[in-house]
Amino acid sequence: MTSNDDLDDIATLLNRDHADSLLVIGRGLISAETSSAELVEVTYDHCRLLVVCNGLTNEHRLDFSDAQSTLDGVRGELFELVRSARRSSPGLGHTALEKIVADAERLDEREARVVARCDLSPGLVELTFAGLDEHQDLGGDEYVRLSAHGTSAFFTVRRRRCLRGEVDVWFVVGTGGAWSTWAAQAMVGERVLISAPRATFDPNTDANHILALVDASGLAASARILEEAASASAVSVVASVDEPTATAIFGAERSSRVRVVDPRRRYGLLNALEEYGELSVDEHRTVVFGAGESSEMRAIREHLRVHHHLARERYSVHGYWRHRY
Ligand SMILES: Cc1cc2nc3c(=O)[nH]c(=O)nc-3n(C[C@H](O)[C@H](O)[C@H](O)COP(=O)(O)OP(=O)(O)OC[C@H]3O[C@@H](n4cnc5c(N)ncnc54)[C@H](O)[C@@H]3O)c2cc1C
Repeated sequence: MTSNDDLDDIATLLNRDHADSLLVIGRGLISAETSSAELVEVTYDHCRLLVVCNGLTNEHRLDFSDAQSTLDGVRGELFELVRSARRSSPGLGHTALEKIVADAERLDEREARVVARCDLSPGLVELTFAGLDEHQDLGGDEYVRLSAHGTSAFFTVRRRRCLRGEVDVWFVVGTGGAWSTWAAQAMVGERVLISAPRATFDPNTDANHILALVDASGLAASARILEEAASASAVSVVASVDEPTATAIFGAERSSRVRVVDPRRRYGLLNALEEYGELSVDEHRTVVFGAGESSEMRAIREHLRVHHHLARERYSVHGYWRHRY
């Protein structure tokens, strides 16, 4: 890690040159009435914003989706806050920062079209996209950015068929979000832009137990990890999903390797870690993958670090979406 001065420099630069992006974050993630927002602290896992709203000034903490160890990682997380906030404040013009990032990203995007759809359950839709011949298969939690109708979001590649240039993506539907709503009624022939893939999860070769803790947004990643795990590794999945979705996705595997927790239960994944003895986390042999709501994932990271003494390289736990404030 580098010094706090470097983190302070990031805050200073954003306050000086990118006040428009901070305003988007304030309006999208804190309150639509925000009239100005200033960064007062940037750390490796969160930032604090001083926000003026209806004449009142308050400080708000915003957690990153994952703890970072580099300055580039921190910059990426700050931009993800802008991206996430943008979906709630589409009315504001695009900021200088968004234009810079969009220009860089456009280089690796390809136009893809929907060639098939399958309603897996009332809460989950699979869409197949074609047109991605040049993209590689990264496996694990491979994900891409989808862009269309003025917004973009990340989605996991559930399956990739390189020779056909196709990917299958599972969309959680019914959340009210723009992509969720689009996917719920997307028809064959519709077009979107899809970025080159990235991946983060790389199970240690000495691990003999992979534990995946996911909500519906992390289902595709956990299903792929389950499928790809070396036969020497035991894989347990705890999924916070509704019954029809659990049955559709895990079917016969449910009894042995998959536990389902009620998605209405707050912090159900975190509680499952404490409640189910057989999920025991061995600090030398277990790797954990987590994907779901940001604050629950942060609590899980904390729990793994403090109670199970899990080293940083043994868990890959990500906030895939965040509640609006
Ligand atoms: C690496 C990565 C991989 C991902 N993979 C997948 C995937 O395979 N499938 C998938 O569906 N999502 C996945 N996500 C999550 C997805 O990017 C977000 O859910 C995104 O917010 C969806 O955009 P939207 O336009 O539908 O909703 P937004 O406009 O961003 O949000 C609108 C509202 O919906 C709520 N919301 C958003 N997502 C959810 C959710 N999952 N459950 C409940 N409420 C929600 C928000 O809190 C907000 O109030 C992934 C995210 C990341 C970072």
